[in-house]
Amino acid sequence: MGTILRLLIIAAIIWFIYSLIRRAITPPPQQPLPNSPLMRQCAHCRVNIPEGESTQSHGQFFCCEAHRDLYLQQKP
Ligand SMILES: [Zn+2]
Repeated sequence: MGTILRLLIIAAIIWFIYSLIRRAITPPPQQPLPNSPLMRQCAHCRVNIPEGESTQSHGQFFCCEAHRDLYLQQKP
């Protein structure tokens, strides 16, 4: 009886060390940052702006309405 109990304890210790090593090796799953909005590039000046602050027109994104107007003037 004592031998089986000892084997079980040794197995538990090995499993515990194994799970610790596995946790240390495996990197935590990459989660998207909640505060990072989707970035869009202005089609006129190529500056990156959050999608919420961008102006969208004709499937393109712009940092401001002036650049949207300039872009549409150049490419009617
Ligand atoms: Zn721009």
